[in-house]
Amino acid sequence: MHKKFALALSLFLLAALPAPAQSLMPVCGSSGDLLFQNFPPHFMENPPEDLPALFASYDRDYFSLLQERDDLIFSRESRRSWPDSRLLPNHFLRQTEFNLSNALARFYSTGTRPYDLQLSPLFILSPSNDPAAFATGRTVLLNEGLVAFFLAPQTFLDDLLASRKSSSLSDEDRARIRAAFSWQDDWPSLYFLLAHEAAHNLLKHPDQRILQTATSKMLDHYAQRARDQRHDLSFGKIGFGTKFARFFSESNPSFDSLLDDSSRQRDSEENADALALYLLADAGLDPDAARLALDRLALLLDDSILKGGLLRRSICNDRSALRDRSSRLASHLSCIRSSGRFCGAISAFSIPETMQASRQRLADIETYRRTTQEITSRNPQDSPSDIIVRIEVKPKDALLTVDGSPLHPGSFQLQEGPHTLSVSRDGYLTETRQIVVFPDIQLKLKIDLKKQK
Ligand SMILES: [Zn+2]
Repeated sequence: MHKKFALALSLFLLAALPAPAQSLMPVCGSSGDLLFQNFPPHFMENPPEDLPALFASYDRDYFSLLQERDDLIFSRESRRSWPDSRLLPNHFLRQTEFNLSNALARFYSTGTRPYDLQLSPLFILSPSNDPAAFATGRTVLLNEGLVAFFLAPQTFLDDLLASRKSSSLSDEDRARIRAAFSWQDDWPSLYFLLAHEAAHNLLKHPDQRILQTATSKMLDHYAQRARDQRHDLSFGKIGFGTKFARFFSESNPSFDSLLDDSSRQRDSEENADALALYLLADAGLDPDAARLALDRLALLLDDSILKGGLLRRSICNDRSALRDRSSRLASHLSCIRSSGRFCGAISAFSIPETMQASRQRLADIETYRRTTQEITSRNPQDSPSDIIVRIEVKPKDALLTVDGSPLHPGSFQLQEGPHTLSVSRDGYLTETRQIVVFPDIQLKLKIDLKKQK
């Protein structure tokens, strides 16, 4: 079962590969779109039937499955089809990629011991002019726009200003904007943003968003469906053989917003910033660069440079979020400076604990569904208990039979399990209904007969 699933998954991944460049288009909330695609229901043709298989394979191969996916998406082969950079010369990009790959390897090796996590350093410069950065859980991506912004801001501005209607900016505006971005080769800021993304991976924040946020939402939907199914069987609204309906399609829109929820991310941003300072210091780089990096990015959103800002968001933060991050960095910085370590423990998300909780929850839902099935196909004679139900009929003098025996409408006891109700009266259409009595559902029914024509 598991092998088959993994194979189907790999085939799906291969089939889904042709458009990697689009999948890198920035969606705020770091790698929201990548995470969204990595979320398993997107791989599966029949998610409900495969849910236990999905959890089993996640349990054993969670890391290798997602690593495989990163390896495929970012392989040399598939990157060949990515668009060429419009901002920076190729040889410069390759050299930059090489430098940042080495720095990432250093950051990961610093994090290996405290976080007991061996990540293979995969760094990618992604072909987008948007100044953004991403962490997939394993890979770190910086957009070319972000690299250009720090190393050659005037080139970055050329592209940004060209995309605006030329009439909307006066020469004076343009001169003021250019003067505000007058640095060159700001490597320390770039290293900070790389360290920040590396920290997200070391703290397993992307995994947290998939496994905790999205999975719990998926299980919520599954549990609700299981309750609805029992309720519908009880009231005779669905036949006993009705297939369990899909639920992932309904969950998907809310996953999108969950993965994008910026208030939830505040803590993880602050922790990634704090750990980044430590990674920088340990690598002999300058942690003081962090505030400057955020302050420079905030210039893109600054009203005094251009009304409304040049951009509305940068690295997925609005102006106040960037300012908050920058000010919270101050206390972490003084700690690093005095002690050489970060203050307070920054703990990583625990994958095994979350998987254990999700597995338990899934098992509970499956048990509930099996019990539904068992009670539905039970012989009521064998039932351990009687449950009070209330069945009314209209017109009031109609004849009610339950399993062939006449009963007075109103409240009475029925044994758990399936029963056949029949309501009839002269001049009316007889109604027959299959119901199921469950211990946890209050069955109150009113059967209203239709007149014979
Ligand atoms: Zn972040």
